[in-house]
Amino acid sequence: MKNVAVIGSTGSIGTQTLEIARANKEINICALSCGFNIELIEKQAREFQPEIVGVWSEEDAKALRQSLADMNIRVVSGMEGLIEIAEYKTSDIVVTAIVGMIGIQPTIAAIKAGKDIALANKETLVTAGHIIMPLAKEYGVSILPVDSEHSAIFQAMQGNTHGDVAKLLLTASGGPFRGKDREFLKNVRLEDALKHPNWSMGRKITIDSATMVNKGLEVIEAKWLFDIEPEQIQVVIQPQSIIHSMVEYQDGAVIAQLGTPDMKLPIQYALFYPERRYLAGDRLDFYKISSVIFEKPDTDTFLGLQFAYEAIGKGGTMPTVLNAANEKAVSMFLNRKIKFLDIYDIIRECMESHKVIDNPDIEQILETEKSVYNYIEGRW
Ligand code: NDP
Repeated sequence: MKNVAVIGSTGSIGTQTLEIARANKEINICALSCGFNIELIEKQAREFQPEIVGVWSEEDAKALRQSLADMNIRVVSGMEGLIEIAEYKTSDIVVTAIVGMIGIQPTIAAIKAGKDIALANKETLVTAGHIIMPLAKEYGVSILPVDSEHSAIFQAMQGNTHGDVAKLLLTASGGPFRGKDREFLKNVRLEDALKHPNWSMGRKITIDSATMVNKGLEVIEAKWLFDIEPEQIQVVIQPQSIIHSMVEYQDGAVIAQLGTPDMKLPIQYALFYPERRYLAGDRLDFYKISSVIFEKPDTDTFLGLQFAYEAIGKGGTMPTVLNAANEKAVSMFLNRKIKFLDIYDIIRECMESHKVIDNPDIEQILETEKSVYNYIEGRW
């Protein structure tokens, strides 16, 4: 039996994790947490009967305690509750399916409690990778990638030696605006930006895919996960999302992982690693795929990659500034307060005005996040 805690159980990754639990009797869901969707988490709690459930506000927690009064489930709230869930005594592995930098503290708590991490919450590694990776080593826990590209790389590395890796080839679909120019992007609507060509994901990451900031964050995530220099990471557009990423080795061999765009595969791989399990769903039909296309990313129009390489180059708190400015800007775009290209302007301005703090601790990372938010609120 595998005891699993899910942080962010009501979101895209969270609900797909529960689908896997539903199909695998060896998974016991012992803890669940979400932000504000208390209706859904109540249903999840009734179905999976975890020992503990967390929501963000204490008011929602009170309501949930009442509606779950007939069950023996502890309901907690806020960051304290999130941390309690992350380090919950009976779990073996924590799926970090929460969105944003709010995932940092629970991830650290889970590592310190000796839990393996199935990591979807890339913002944690982007901003605090220099703390998370050594901490995981110190506590002897595994950080198992859930992001499809990183899972693909992880799969392509099995049976090979880290020292033999020449480069990582991180694939990208190019998002809904692939091939478009800045003029076109000036007036794109929120609805268009939310139409990802291949993947169905949460709203924030879908916008990140359209700006290619997501790919930038993934470059930083890959650097920390695989202990690889940024120059050894090459982004390749593969619009069909058939090849989820590749690894090139010293001898020139390239090993790729292919599949349909289904996040359940990387989630399940992380949960059962190193075992592979049956997963229901479509399979690639190579008779129907007449060609596989590759392109160079248009980094002059889609600035996400430029920002990311610049942020890792400067190091310290700069990736936090990129991430925090992006989180704030995307939330403003989702609330129709700014236009699509403003996202880039906001990130650029925040990065240009920031004075880097080297090797920041968690407090400095969180302070940087706050100061970026304040800066944007005062300016835009
Ligand atoms: P969603 O927006 O679909 O879900 C986010 C989850 O986080 C929800 O359960 C939400 O709860 C929860 N949450 C938000 N705020 C809080 C809070 N204050 N306290 C507790 N929980 C909170 O996001 P995704 O599932 O798309 O993405 C999750 C993470 O996985 C992100 O870091 C993303 O980059 C990464 N990822 C996602 C992929 C995907 O296919 N979706 C692919 C690869 C990586 P509620 O809705 O109840 O408020």
